Amino acid sequence: MSAKILDGESLAKRLVVQLAPRVAAVTGERGTAPLLAIVSIGGNGAAALYLRKKLDACREAGIETSVQALPASVSEAEALKVIGDLARNSDVDGIILDTPLPRQLSLARLLDAVPPAKDVEGVTPGSFGRLFSCKSLAELDASGALIPPTPHAILRLLAETRAPKLDAAETRRALEEAGRGAEAVVVGRSTIVGRPAAHLLSCAGATVTLCHSGTKNLKAHLKRADVVVTAVGSPGLVKGPDLKPGAVVLDAGIGYEGKKVRGDVDDESAKIVAGFLAPVPGGVGPVTVAMLLANIVTTAERRLKR
Ligand code: NDP
Repeated sequence: MSAKILDGESLAKRLVVQLAPRVAAVTGERGTAPLLAIVSIGGNGAAALYLRKKLDACREAGIETSVQALPASVSEAEALKVIGDLARNSDVDGIILDTPLPRQLSLARLLDAVPPAKDVEGVTPGSFGRLFSCKSLAELDASGALIPPTPHAILRLLAETRAPKLDAAETRRALEEAGRGAEAVVVGRSTIVGRPAAHLLSCAGATVTLCHSGTKNLKAHLKRADVVVTAVGSPGLVKGPDLKPGAVVLDAGIGYEGKKVRGDVDDESAKIVAGFLAPVPGGVGPVTVAMLLANIVTTAERRLKR
């Protein structure tokens, strides 16, 4: 068997093209483009690279950006004031707090200052509450929850395994088909990737096992999984012989071997066993950016309707 590669680059391009009329409609109606504000505190190299990618993607999609760059030594009170000002600023549609943060700052307290209506990364307690109170994809759609972009990208790639070029309604049906009765294993339990990905798969009807660093015999879990999601950051953690033949493998991990970016899955051996593979680079990453853009446009549309 040779796995079908899930091409995140071309899916992301398609999703961004589909956003264009929505961006134009917001811009036309209120005279200003959707605006994303990024708070970047003492940004390190890796964060800066990802930040640039977000800025470039916004520009290409017609979304305005502003970056509030604060020094690593900033006090929590000062950082809270900056976020509070953005929260009250009626020109701002979405707010992102770049992480990791310097030690003196509490991520939980800073995120508490981001209003759910501008939480385009879906990471505040209000957004999580809405997300985790849904138990099906239908409930999720009806709730208006803003789904964190990376788990949303993982789910969107899973839908691609049923048929390419799906619209929103078809995507939900495809996910319900892909999820119903499936055994899913998610490796990594963070609040931004693994845990919401597991929840979304459960909403799609899968039976989900959430693995982490303390999981005994990870390979035994992987071996029975129809769907495998990895979000660890450990290159080569999952290898072909660990997988069930025909499994859908969605790799969100980002690690480095020398200067090369690597996912958690060893692509060469996985390709021989898996049915579908979203590789790193070129799989989950680009779709994540497209999902972030979609959330920004959604918040802008909702603010216009209010
Ligand atoms: P975290 O460090 O918060 O979480 C990593 C998870 O992996 C933890 O739950 C940890 O377990 C688990 N883990 C570590 N070692 C093992 C192991 N040997 N076996 C099983 N589980 C293990 O990372 P994030 O969730 O923030 O990110 C995960 C990866 O995804 C990173 O590589 C990150 O760069 C990437 N990422 C990719 C994005 C994209 O758009 N493609 C976006 C965001 C992140 P424990 O909880 O027990 O510590």
